[in-house]
Amino acid sequence: MSTAPVAPTQIPIMRPYLGVEEERAAAEAVASGWIAQGPRVAEFEAAFAARLGAAHAVAVSSCTTALHLALVVAGIGPDDEVVVPSLSFIATANAARYVGARPVFAEVDLATACLTPATVEAALTPATRAVIVVDQAGMPADVDAIRAVCEPRGVVVVEDAACAAGSTYHGRPVGADALLAAFSFHPRKILTTGEGGMVVTSDASLAERLVLLRQHGMSVSAADRHAAGGAVIEQYLEVGFNYRMTDIQAAVGLVQLGRLDEVIARRRHLAGRYAAGLSDVAGILLPADPPWGTTNHQSYWVTLPEQVADRRNDVMQVLAEQGISTRRGIMASHLEPAYEGHPHAALPVTERLTNGSLILPLYHELSEADQDRVIDAFRNALEDLT
Ligand SMILES: *Cc1c(COP(=O)(O)O)cnc(C)c1O
Repeated sequence: MSTAPVAPTQIPIMRPYLGVEEERAAAEAVASGWIAQGPRVAEFEAAFAARLGAAHAVAVSSCTTALHLALVVAGIGPDDEVVVPSLSFIATANAARYVGARPVFAEVDLATACLTPATVEAALTPATRAVIVVDQAGMPADVDAIRAVCEPRGVVVVEDAACAAGSTYHGRPVGADALLAAFSFHPRKILTTGEGGMVVTSDASLAERLVLLRQHGMSVSAADRHAAGGAVIEQYLEVGFNYRMTDIQAAVGLVQLGRLDEVIARRRHLAGRYAAGLSDVAGILLPADPPWGTTNHQSYWVTLPEQVADRRNDVMQVLAEQGISTRRGIMASHLEPAYEGHPHAALPVTERLTNGSLILPLYHELSEADQDRVIDAFRNALEDLT
């Protein structure tokens, strides 16, 4: 076996796209003397709602806390069942647990990795009060079709759009018309504030309650009390939480939001190059736009041909030895120790996707030369196995 004269450069799985503008915006927030939730959070909420075409946006500390609050304002509580995909980051299922409800794991579709009307319907029982639909890795789920199954039965549909900022559904941004949709600004996502999240809602009274709950149930925010000038006595109307975003985070988010279209265009270009380089591999499954929308390709997961699906870790190892970072496919919550013993129906598609797929490097500054290296190395690894 020949050895390369120089070690190949490392290709990470992803790298956040942050520049001097973000640095400056954060520094300005610090210099302003107002660093906790204040005017920049309000500005970020307005800009995010405008970008999506959503009626209301409420900034919070993460998508996990966004999902928790969404279930609280939807009135979900103990003894309720919440249908969720097992195939998701574990926070989706945990959100149901936070309100004392029981997550019920539903199956996903092999092509989109999302819930479908049929898989949701199969999981509904008289105790079902909500469904959390995940737009998986930015892939828009067919939310209207799922709502059509749920709403006649009084089941609330909450959208976990953690990864889906800027993805589209029937020509409009994901979340634009949602009763409740939650977004994440973790660095692993397409738009980052370090940590952070947002709930968007079409309902003014839900928005009002979300605002109250993220700040301890306090009737007047610190910023409003400051703006009022005179003596303002706040009241604590119910038991709330401290789920606030800081103005330093919002300052970064405003700059990132301005880059969103550019970031998505680049990802879609690179995803198209992956598809061109891999689609002729027999039996491989690649993420592609569904008939009802477009994905932002937050992650590029590849599902291996069935005959080599059980060699996924070997493929990852071969790529790692060539300096190429990959990740296992999207996790399945029902296989984690935290959900050991939690009853669930058979989930064969979920298990095929989580065990037989891997995530390839995809980020704004990935060069085409490095991407070609990934494509060649991946193809060679597969050929060696078959
Ligand atoms: C990342 C992610 C979350 C959690 O987001 P945080 O902002 O880190 O709390 C929830 N759901 C899905 C589907 C995710 O991908």
